[in-house]
Amino acid sequence: MNLHEYQGKELLSNFGVRIQRGRIATTVEEALAEFDKLQEETGTEFAVIKAQIHAGGRGKGGGVKLAKSREEVKDIADAILGMHLKTPQTQGGLDGPGKLVRKILIAEDSYAPDFDACKEYYISILTDRGRAQNVIIYSTEGGMDIEKVADETPELVHKEYIDPTMGIQPFAARKIAFNLGLSGTAFKEMNRFVTSLYNAFVGSDATLFEINPCMINASGEVTAVDCKVALDDNALYRHPDLAEMRDEDEEDPTEVEAKKFGLSFIKLDGDVGCMVNGAGLAMATMDIIKLSGGKPANFLDVGGTADASRVENGFRIILRDKNVKAILINIFGGIVRCDRVAQGVVDAYANLGNIDIPIIVRLQGTNADLGKIIIDESGLEVKSAILLKEAADLVKEAIAG
Ligand code: GDP
Ligand code: MN
Repeated sequence: MNLHEYQGKELLSNFGVRIQRGRIATTVEEALAEFDKLQEETGTEFAVIKAQIHAGGRGKGGGVKLAKSREEVKDIADAILGMHLKTPQTQGGLDGPGKLVRKILIAEDSYAPDFDACKEYYISILTDRGRAQNVIIYSTEGGMDIEKVADETPELVHKEYIDPTMGIQPFAARKIAFNLGLSGTAFKEMNRFVTSLYNAFVGSDATLFEINPCMINASGEVTAVDCKVALDDNALYRHPDLAEMRDEDEEDPTEVEAKKFGLSFIKLDGDVGCMVNGAGLAMATMDIIKLSGGKPANFLDVGGTADASRVENGFRIILRDKNVKAILINIFGGIVRCDRVAQGVVDAYANLGNIDIPIIVRLQGTNADLGKIIIDESGLEVKSAILLKEAADLVKEAIAG
């Protein structure tokens, strides 16, 4: 689950990370009222108005602007709220449809009073699965174009691996501050900053933190000016306060709907829909689809206790994807009974109207024979397969047309 910038900052702040303070608004009137409160609270003269969408690169698309007066707060808030913001990271990039901005962050001007003395750094934390360690990636070249830095001058991007059982050790924090060329107050501040940041990462079961820019001002204060936070969905039950931060407006509508039906669904960009029970079998099925020359259109695990209605809902969701040229249903009946799944397929056909793409069903295990009878007697054009290899061949035929 991804957080908005303002939510990520709240999380960081709770772990003692210094953040650019701000207040949230959804209308121009609120923006002005929040600007007044922000000035009272922080003493800031200017305010940065920042579009809150789940995508980076907002500055490039006109979603981050400095307002130098109350009048400008009004104009900029008016321009950004309700705009369809296009950034290099929104769907289709700068030529795409953009993302509707529903909320803005009115933030203090962290670069005052001496803008030119402020330096922008880059810090991110993620898990390196290959090494089974967390890694802090950091660079002096912060700001908006870290991708370019990594491409053209990879020697300016450093990595510090952290043993998750040990946590961040003082020497590691010092090494990072040293490699960033810091001294004096900034050195000490950076030590504290990365230590708190790492503890926030572990403490919130995050999968990604990206602070860009992490800004150091003339006094040596280190501030998280922007942050991208992704949390591990499977650990959210440990953080009910964070789970509440989910913004369904920002998520794939199909995935949101699937969750309501108890389905684990992830949309992909291929042409073969698949409906499987169990994550392991789902992954094996996606491999089989690839081997037979197709590309999976989705990952869909209907779960170990799938019934006819869940199968029907799965169907409905897969069929919404216009790229899907064939559907492969691969169910192993353990607790799930194959006859129920078969009934779900037949019901879906009846309820959803014309399904005009080939469907290949492989049912194995409990009541597989009954399932086959239900499908055969339904008179539907569903092809059944017994072996995985047969299913793969049928998929190949189906995509060939
Ligand atoms: P992104 O474009 O989505 O990554 O949004 P950021 O939050 O990183 O903001 C983009 C840029 O706006 C930053 O790199 C800064 O240069 C600038 N910016 C952000 N906050 C301030 C601020 O408080 N004062 C000034 N002067 N510039 C800011
Ligand atoms: Mn940024």
